[in-house]
Amino acid sequence: MATATVEASHSLTVSTAASQASVEDGRHMLIDAQNRLHEGARVINLEPWIERMLGAMQMEYLTEFPVRMDDGDIQVFKGYRVHHNGTRGPFKGGIRYAPFVSIWEVRALAMLMTWKCAIIDVPFGGAKGGVVCDPKALSAREVEGVTRRFTTELTPVFGPNTDILAPDMGTGPREMAWIADTYSMNKGITTLSCVTGKDPELGGSLGRREATGRGIAVVTEAALADVGTRIGEAGIVVQGFGNVGQSFALSIAELGGKILAVSDVYGGLFNENGLDIPALVDFITVGNPVGAFPEGEAISNDDLLTLPCDVLVPAAMENQITERNAGNIRTKLVVEGANGPVTAEADAILADRGITVVPDILANAGGVLVSYFEWVQDISSLYWSLEQVNNNMDAKMRNAYSRVTQAARDQSVSLRTAALAIGVGRVADVTRKRGIYP
Ligand code: NAD
Repeated sequence: MATATVEASHSLTVSTAASQASVEDGRHMLIDAQNRLHEGARVINLEPWIERMLGAMQMEYLTEFPVRMDDGDIQVFKGYRVHHNGTRGPFKGGIRYAPFVSIWEVRALAMLMTWKCAIIDVPFGGAKGGVVCDPKALSAREVEGVTRRFTTELTPVFGPNTDILAPDMGTGPREMAWIADTYSMNKGITTLSCVTGKDPELGGSLGRREATGRGIAVVTEAALADVGTRIGEAGIVVQGFGNVGQSFALSIAELGGKILAVSDVYGGLFNENGLDIPALVDFITVGNPVGAFPEGEAISNDDLLTLPCDVLVPAAMENQITERNAGNIRTKLVVEGANGPVTAEADAILADRGITVVPDILANAGGVLVSYFEWVQDISSLYWSLEQVNNNMDAKMRNAYSRVTQAARDQSVSLRTAALAIGVGRVADVTRKRGIYP
């Protein structure tokens, strides 16, 4: 498959130690993704030519674009969109705003999206995007400027039948609304289906905002049952308290589970009797950091990851459980809420210590699943009830979990390798049937 790079003309290259570190983290993540692909391919005896194809990126876009800041200055931002593989359908994937975004990380995340869509069996290909910026350091108007100009630069690439965006770190329904509006204005026709994760008034699906976290909770409950623990008896620790961490913790609270500790980028909070999650969500919604909540003890992010618990859910970002701390993790299960939070080296250490890892490509697939429901609702202009969305999602998540655990048992491999074998196998089946053009 051809790989093309489209570059815009504005140029700004700032080389700092921080950006070098993020490049290294991103490279590490991509190397892990490639090695894991190889492992899944080995299990299913994949033809080497298909593995070579699936290890490559189908198309990559880089744009550097100017935005007028509040003080009148013009700054140039760098944005990426990577299409990993579109064999099974239009490209689908989130867009993240973070200072550490690199092309390597975006490639790795796009590849994960391909497997995720295949495992949960939605007819999309894998993509990911990112803009190098610190949204916390920008005003709302500046974030809007970044979003609208990035969308404008990539309008020829995006579209409901070609490439559909969604929220990720640092983006949410507000940015999705600006993307939908900008795309629609550029095209001269309202096209809300170019993006998912919108508010319901704009064609967003009921249940989408909570979907990723709810799906992780469904999988957590099933994984706990497999180790003989009922959710009501489990102590759960969550790293990251954004969209995914909050919606997961709220779902667990609804299911009667106990969240012992949560954290955000500034630090964590621990309460051995369980945190009042709805009250904590209200507390941080008005701008407070998690660690300032009065009903708990402040702890560092490092300490949070090594607390004794039944389930540890890293739901912040990649490369959080590494060879540095994997030996100190004290849990039965790690359920990956974030994408790529456990490195390959840490995977091996956790496996040796008898700790099961439920992989990202299965655990957090509820987000893209309900994004698919949203897209279906938008293109058919027929909207579902919340019950319909949740029932469909719960059933598909449980089904995917059972298939993966069954395959892991049958082939005596980890849940990650089993999930990859299923995802990669499904993409490979379509690849063989479609054949190679021309
Ligand atoms: P978000 O920006 O809403 O929240 C991220 C949270 O992590 C924030 O609370 C932030 O303070 C915290 N955080 C950041 N760096 C941290 C660190 N070093 N230590 C501790 N906490 C830290 O992002 P999100 O949408 O919740 O995404 C989180 C993860 O889940 C990402 O890996 C993303 O790719 C993945 N994911 C998101 C979705 C989705 O629907 N939003 C779907 C699937 C996967």
